[in-house]
Amino acid sequence: MSNRAKKALERAESEIGILHQRLELIQLITLGERICVVCGCSDNNACPEGCEWSLVHAATPTGVCSNCIIDYLAAVIDAEKVPEKKA
Ligand SMILES: [Zn+2]
Ligand SMILES: [Zn+2]
Repeated sequence: MSNRAKKALERAESEIGILHQRLELIQLITLGERICVVCGCSDNNACPEGCEWSLVHAATPTGVCSNCIIDYLAAVIDAEKVPEKKA
């Protein structure tokens, strides 16, 4: 590959990287404030002891914060453990 082609490729790659960053930013803005489905805390109203997002739902502005992730996962595991009733 020629030097010029390499440079062009590098530039294209960095531009794609910037585009990705912009896309993530736009998604964040359009999704708005995310709300924890367990305790109801949000981006602008975190838990009193402080928290961060452990799980963020991509399609809706909801997630599970770091204070609730253990309970949430336990509930999910419990729900999966429930045996199906055989007809
Ligand atoms: Zn929470
Ligand atoms: Zn929280």
